[in-house]
Amino acid sequence: MTVLVVGSGVIAVELIRKQVKIRLLSPRHPLHPSTCSVGAGGLWMPFHCDDERTDQWAFDTLDELMSYACSVESGSVDAVDGGASKALVEIVPAISFKRNNSKAPPKWATDRRSHILKFQCLTIDDLYKESLSQNFRLPGREVMDHAGYSHSWLFHPPIVDSPNMLMHMVRELESSEYTEHINLDTQKGYANVQEIVDDAIKFGCDSLVNCTGLGSKAICDDKSLIGARGVLLQFDRPSCEWDGQPERNDSVIMVEDPPLGSDSDPCYMIPRGKIIAVGGTYLEGDEQPEIRPEEMSKIMENARLMGINTDRSKPISQWVGFRPYRPRARLEIDEDFRKSGVKVVHSFGYGGSGWTVFVGAAKEAVSLLSS
Ligand SMILES: Cc1cc2nc3c(=O)[nH]c(=O)nc-3n(C[C@H](O)[C@H](O)[C@H](O)COP(=O)(O)OP(=O)(O)OC[C@H]3O[C@@H](n4cnc5c(N)ncnc54)[C@H](O)[C@@H]3O)c2cc1C
Repeated sequence: MTVLVVGSGVIAVELIRKQVKIRLLSPRHPLHPSTCSVGAGGLWMPFHCDDERTDQWAFDTLDELMSYACSVESGSVDAVDGGASKALVEIVPAISFKRNNSKAPPKWATDRRSHILKFQCLTIDDLYKESLSQNFRLPGREVMDHAGYSHSWLFHPPIVDSPNMLMHMVRELESSEYTEHINLDTQKGYANVQEIVDDAIKFGCDSLVNCTGLGSKAICDDKSLIGARGVLLQFDRPSCEWDGQPERNDSVIMVEDPPLGSDSDPCYMIPRGKIIAVGGTYLEGDEQPEIRPEEMSKIMENARLMGINTDRSKPISQWVGFRPYRPRARLEIDEDFRKSGVKVVHSFGYGGSGWTVFVGAAKEAVSLLSS
């Protein structure tokens, strides 16, 4: 079996690890900012991926990311930038501030496989006590009390350094005995599935996996696939200056409850590799490619609330990305092409969770290919 894989986001490149012979084609390099995977926060946490299979894929992914974090610590995996960033996967404390009406833990936190995350639901008092012993950095206590947050989730997820991990995977792909051909800069965007099938036949592939993320909206004429716009500011992690708690360990901070956050305007901070990503928005159907001035001000305010000294530390870059959201991810065989002589598998629509589900999704795509 030789598989034509289209796309070079995380969903595509993970397929190289699944020991099937592949040709990989992508119109743009994975580090191009239009690739959703490159700018993402890289945090393991199911987020706006409402498929009932999400948790299964997510826990398969968690297992692999945890083993990665361990192997990096023990020195068996090198960071691709010559060691400038500590690791490709880092375990970081994550805190999500909640109001009373959202007290129930998320479904994934009650899964038996979640013990590794050490998930706890804590009152704000207990959280700030815990932070003294664990030394993690939190927003000012008075601000959170005044805003009316009553409790928090605390857990310890892996965070993938997304650009470095993509490059690591590309290198693996380049040296893998299973790679028949790879072109990450074809400049050719497919307009429909038939065009991909025609190329698969031309290249002698008997199957293909369509991993084109939001590109599938046009390719598959898929009206249920929506871009959910996210905006991030990136601060330089080593030189970032903090108010109040400079010597503390970096943590993920998330606030989706009012008044400081909301579903469409979550306030969050993710330490990822050499940067601290501060966000952001979740706006379905918003196609504006640039950051708006009012979004810039709001995210700078988020950064300040979460402890960054925004007078002394300025963002080093900004990014707008579009999460490929679909009420149900499309991970299935396309029956319309059964008779084409090429087995067509689609794998897209993982919303805000591509880095959370990629290993499980790739595993399932491969089992569809061999079914
Ligand atoms: C602000 C933001 C923060 C995020 N944070 C997180 C996080 O912390 N954790 C998490 O798990 N997820 C996060 N995500 C979501 C995650 O980034 C996506 O779910 C994931 O990147 C989707 O991967 P993909 O491979 O499907 O798509 P992409 O990475 O977008 O890759 C699609 C590929 O298809 C190619 N392509 C597109 N159109 C065509 C075409 N017509 N023909 C041929 N090729 C085409 C592209 O060039 C690209 O190579 C975040 C997203 C955003 C926007």
